[in-house]
Amino acid sequence: MACVHPTDQAIVVGGGLAGVSAANTLLESGMKVVLLDKSSFCGGNSSKATSGINGAETRTQKEKGVPDTVDIFTQDTLKGGAKRPAVAKVLCANSGPDVDWLMDAFSLDLSLLARLGGHSQPRTHRGKERFPGMTITYALIQSLEAVVERTDFARLITKAHVTNLIVNNGVCVGCVYQKAGQEFKEFGPVILATGGFGADFGSDSLLAQYRPDLLHLPTTNGEHCTGDGIKMSEAIGAKTIDLEWVQVHPTGLVKPDEPDAKVKFLAAEALRGVGGIILNANGDRFCNELGRRDYVTGEMWKSKPPFRLCLNKKATDEIIWHCKHYTGRGVMKSYASGAELAKDMGLPVSKLEEVHEAHFQASQNTEKNPEGGKWPAYPSGKSWDDASGPTGSGKKFYHNVIPGSQVASEPFHVAIITPVIHYCMGGVEVNEKSECIGGSGAITGLYAAGEVAGGVHGNNRLGGNSLLDCVVFGRVAAKEAAAYVLGKSLGDLPKVDLAALKALPPKKTPAPETKAAAAPTAAQPGNLATPLLSKDPKDLEKGQTSASILPSRSTIVWQVKNLDWSMWTLLILSMLFGLAALFCFFNEPNVVTPCQGLDCAKD
Ligand SMILES: Cc1cc2nc3c(=O)[nH]c(=O)nc-3n(C[C@H](O)[C@H](O)[C@H](O)COP(=O)(O)OP(=O)(O)OC[C@H]3O[C@@H](n4cnc5c(N)ncnc54)[C@H](O)[C@@H]3O)c2cc1C
Repeated sequence: MACVHPTDQAIVVGGGLAGVSAANTLLESGMKVVLLDKSSFCGGNSSKATSGINGAETRTQKEKGVPDTVDIFTQDTLKGGAKRPAVAKVLCANSGPDVDWLMDAFSLDLSLLARLGGHSQPRTHRGKERFPGMTITYALIQSLEAVVERTDFARLITKAHVTNLIVNNGVCVGCVYQKAGQEFKEFGPVILATGGFGADFGSDSLLAQYRPDLLHLPTTNGEHCTGDGIKMSEAIGAKTIDLEWVQVHPTGLVKPDEPDAKVKFLAAEALRGVGGIILNANGDRFCNELGRRDYVTGEMWKSKPPFRLCLNKKATDEIIWHCKHYTGRGVMKSYASGAELAKDMGLPVSKLEEVHEAHFQASQNTEKNPEGGKWPAYPSGKSWDDASGPTGSGKKFYHNVIPGSQVASEPFHVAIITPVIHYCMGGVEVNEKSECIGGSGAITGLYAAGEVAGGVHGNNRLGGNSLLDCVVFGRVAAKEAAAYVLGKSLGDLPKVDLAALKALPPKKTPAPETKAAAAPTAAQPGNLATPLLSKDPKDLEKGQTSASILPSRSTIVWQVKNLDWSMWTLLILSMLFGLAALFCFFNEPNVVTPCQGLDCAKD
């Protein structure tokens, strides 16, 4: 009979992209998973991401003939701010296979590429429609939900606020969460995916502790970004790293009728990637628009607001879905001509013509003689751009540039922008295996992935590297946790096809008859430090294990696939009786049975 006890499970805390990448990968690796999220809906900041996800040597890049490599990407990431070559290597080396995994396992369109600031190749992937963070994250959430609806291998519990980690002899064996005023516990290794602390303005604020100078700024982050994973893991002795490195993004969008709103939309970095230029109050360019975020923000502090992000027609057309969206939200304005824009800025159109012509000439000179400019360029080489050159980070990549003569009649899309708190580079210190580091090395049973984890990006994250970080380290953490629980090496992990799980009938309808299959292989021993069939729930926290008596995952899949309707009925009835008996026996409301979890999954 199929296993109904959660001991061969891992716990994922947080349902953003890192969490759902981990959850889907746990399923692929033959594990059960329970995902807990404190919000009413999963998605987190991941669903807000607008530019895309980076990848080198992806199928899309190969189809478009982009000569990118893992080495070039790794160099860009290190130059962009990352300080740990071994961790950066894991990020970049997995980027190609993991972006391809998104396209293959979830049928995602990631066929468009942009070159974002700090990247020497176009490698930020997005689809033709909608925001990439939303399409990617929702596809993975829906995949998980499909498995929840069809099997007992996955549970998804929302409005479940995880407050503490449970530790036994230095091993993390579970967590405590609050839901509807009650306290519950889950047992298994924990993958923290709770996001950053970019909206942590409360009484125990990490922002106030580490970056009080930024407290006055608006933020792009959702209200869930309160650093919970960092605070919980610190409480059990995990180390943190780089918490002072909070990224201020240069292009928060100012809504003219709500200029002081604390939470702001973000102008996707891809808007600069397609050729958007930034003008100050005088109509001058003053920076390399494709420089690092900290650099562009720094140049804004030195210049005169209001700042405008301006896209000419060709640039607009290349990212039209975004422009229409921002215009509809009232954070971007469409101008029929440069003359109209100049009037709105209180400047003669000749000023905008002059600035565009100088930019155009710099692009022409770069094309003719890339290394002939007099200014140092970013990330390397020489720049012809007199507007950005004196900053020491001159522009050398140009896209959709127009001459001054075209400006007066050229349509523009323009947004007023301001620096915003955007991303936390720091977090719980992790190693290449996504293990959280404590006083004496890795803390067994505790992993972190996504923005909660620190040490991946150093003091500055490149655009598109966070969604990638979520997917790569979500998957790394899941595989490591599976290997730990199943007592196998990474190479020997089961390979469960997500599509096959999602093709199973929903739990409520009887399963169709299937042909008999070969008998499954014998059960494998587990090494999880938590038990399953102990009669005393307190043993869960003492670390007793009986995972070895569980059927293996392949056994479970085989058995579930081969149940006919009468067996399903019997199975469900026996589960119900068993649970009722367990409930009476333990009379312990804090121990969550699988069925309790499944009820919650409807939230
Ligand atoms: C506007 C915007 C645009 C962006 N654009 C891009 C982009 O184009 N490319 C890119 O690479 N990056 C981008 N980023 C950054 C990137 O989106 C995030 O850093 C990343 O998605 C974080 O993912 P995550 O899974 O770590 O956390 P999140 O997606 O924030 O998810 C965290 C989840 O954990 C839950 N949670 C938190 N605490 C608890 C708790 N105690 N108990 C239970 N659940 C909890 C939350 O409810 C939430 O659902 C952008 C960010 C923003 C804000």
